[in-house]
Amino acid sequence: MTENILLHACCGPCAEYPLDVLISEEGLRPLLFFYNPNIHPQVEWQRRRDNLQKVADLRGLNVVVEADYAENEWVHYDPAQNGGLSRCQMCYETRLDRTAAKARELGLPAFTTTLLVSPYQDYDELVRQGLAAAQRHGVEFLVRDFRPGFRAGQNQAREDGLYRQKYCGCRPSLEQSDFKEKILKGQAAWQAEQEKGQD
Ligand code: SF4
Repeated sequence: MTENILLHACCGPCAEYPLDVLISEEGLRPLLFFYNPNIHPQVEWQRRRDNLQKVADLRGLNVVVEADYAENEWVHYDPAQNGGLSRCQMCYETRLDRTAAKARELGLPAFTTTLLVSPYQDYDELVRQGLAAAQRHGVEFLVRDFRPGFRAGQNQAREDGLYRQKYCGCRPSLEQSDFKEKILKGQAAWQAEQEKGQD
């Protein structure tokens, strides 16, 4: 079966339940799309990408990765200079617009996002942004409420041995996280490894 929907995925754990619904209940064949230029620091971006790849491998699916890494745009983001759009609204719009454009480019008729599984995200705003992006690019946005399966998806992620992140993704969200120190230590170790490799 050829792929017939592009599923924007923020990470592996959040992909678990939406994939169950789209594949087992709706008979679709998703192509996964990792496009999250908001994630800070870089080692965290890589962890989330790698764990999405793990989910894809377990389920025999393909992943397209857009390797943009633009966290500085999130740090210096000013709603006043962007028509009052909040940082999170901009974050949704950026990711969903690119996903809609990618669906169009790949000839896929529809897209949706794993962000719709999270009780921590603004569901109504995501739907609004998804529908607007769909209209801009001439594809369909599948409006689904995956939130009832959030826990089941997280449990599946645990069983699959996936890394489960502790903060939303951008630098401001890391600043508020209890895990900030640990994450930054991981980044420093990763950076040192990279530099050693360049010697
Ligand atoms: S808190 Fe989450 S949704 Fe909001 S800007 Fe940061 S990464 Fe994006």
